[in-house]
Amino acid sequence: MRLSRRAFCQSGSAAFVAASLPGTVALGQSVASSRVVPSEVRAVKLNGAATSIEAAALRELAGSLDGQLLLDGDFGYDGARRIWNGMHDRHPALIVRARSTADVVNAVTFARERELLLAVKGGGHSWPGHSTADGALMIDLSAINEVTVDPNRRRARVGGGALLYDLDFASLRHGLATTAGIVSHTGVGGLTLGGGYGRLGRKLGLTIDSLVAAELVCADGRVRKVSAEENRDLFWAIRGGGGNFGVVTEFELVLHEVPPDMYGGIIQWPLSAARDVLHHYAKHSSKYSDEMFVAPGLTTAQDGSPRLAMDICYCGDPRNAERELAPLRAVARPVMDGAGPTSYLTMQTRMDGVARPGIRSYIKSGMVKSFTPALIDAMLDNFEPGRGVAINSMATGARIAQVAETATAWPHRNASALVAVVSFWPDPAADTARIGAVRSLWSKLEPHVGGYYANIQAEAIEVASNYGPVYERLVSIKNAYDPMNLFRLNSNIRPTV
Ligand SMILES: Cc1cc2nc3c(=O)[nH]c(=O)nc-3n(C[C@H](O)[C@H](O)[C@H](O)COP(=O)(O)OP(=O)(O)OC[C@H]3O[C@@H](n4cnc5c(N)ncnc54)[C@H](O)[C@@H]3O)c2cc1C
Repeated sequence: MRLSRRAFCQSGSAAFVAASLPGTVALGQSVASSRVVPSEVRAVKLNGAATSIEAAALRELAGSLDGQLLLDGDFGYDGARRIWNGMHDRHPALIVRARSTADVVNAVTFARERELLLAVKGGGHSWPGHSTADGALMIDLSAINEVTVDPNRRRARVGGGALLYDLDFASLRHGLATTAGIVSHTGVGGLTLGGGYGRLGRKLGLTIDSLVAAELVCADGRVRKVSAEENRDLFWAIRGGGGNFGVVTEFELVLHEVPPDMYGGIIQWPLSAARDVLHHYAKHSSKYSDEMFVAPGLTTAQDGSPRLAMDICYCGDPRNAERELAPLRAVARPVMDGAGPTSYLTMQTRMDGVARPGIRSYIKSGMVKSFTPALIDAMLDNFEPGRGVAINSMATGARIAQVAETATAWPHRNASALVAVVSFWPDPAADTARIGAVRSLWSKLEPHVGGYYANIQAEAIEVASNYGPVYERLVSIKNAYDPMNLFRLNSNIRPTV
């Protein structure tokens, strides 16, 4: 990523012009330069207190940027402030739309010196809305989204604001891929920092298992390269510890050869067959090859009928997939069988519309060791079609489980699935009913889980117990690099100094 263009404290001639306008100011280099803005902006500090940012400081920040400083009312402000989950309609005081690492350094420095509440937006898919806050300084990384693939070294350099689609598309052109999530408009940033589950995970591990280096802007404003050779403590912490340790402006990921055509899609059974199919799956899924990803869920078809749906992805020779899936298909006749030879990109974009940006959503999830008979009963006995709620899962295990519990900051390695209860809806009037329905169904499944994936939760989880064996080390690294807890809008590891 570009490191510097202008020094932060440089003052431009625009400052002089603007200073001559009593009570109003024009923002030097930003889009806002063409309009008159208030002489101060009200913002919120880290401790929640109100503060104001004076015009001269705004001018100085705007003048330091390769990108833009956006204030409420500016063209582009509304698009930049919005995030994926339409439930979080918040208004940051300032948005730095960063174009370079230097912009991120300048924004972090500005926030730290003024003790401003700081939000970092990668792809904006945080379910609880961690990437935005009223009155905060938001760093919007969406313009730092370049993906450069070196096919010989099988490496991708990925901007901190890139989306999964950017990564998948650039890599697949070379017959390469790495584990990415299942909805293509999700951000690489938040997904990777939290772990990164996806259809290739059983074969290739989590996204963090392919992370070899990153460029990190820390709370002190220093840019650190982190890898197995440099700043090893930070390299360990960002592989599962979320955005607690700084802003990643670039990830370096190992890519893996994948077949040009894969095998996958959705197979659905009527609810009457669900118990038999789920019991077969529970008994045999531990024997699936690492290439095979089979993720069961309960959903409601468009005609209102309840279905067991299995999301299939086989990342090896498609001919082997048919053979491996034959016993599952033989348990009961599917009502819809959409699994067959297909491209990985088709699978990766299939859910994009259901989970479209701006939709409202609520989710709860947890890691399960296996689909026990008790869990299957809890799913089938409590799923109510027509309430707009689905049970989804993500197959894990295999390569993911081969990494030691404390080798990265993500300890829940030996689960066989991540199970979620989720709802998507467009109408704010349905908020209470949908959230209530998710909570009610989840309360029946939760006794069967043994740990939580912070990335797939609409509400905060209890961080210390969930990180378990890695928590103390995370706290000591947080103490060393972010003692004031500047990076707190995340699954927060609170410093103790
Ligand atoms: C529709 C949908 C599908 C999903 N599917 C999957 C899936 O298949 N697998 C999976 O593992 N997860 C999945 N997730 C969860 C996803 O991993 C998290 O929501 C993740 O936080 C999204 O990252 P983001 O950059 O888009 O989000 P943002 O809202 O931008 O950020 C989330 C958090 O990460 C921080 N952050 C983001 N980028 C950076 C950066 N570059 N540097 C420092 N901090 C940063 C933010 O400050 C915030 O705390 C899904 C989420 C959604 C909404």
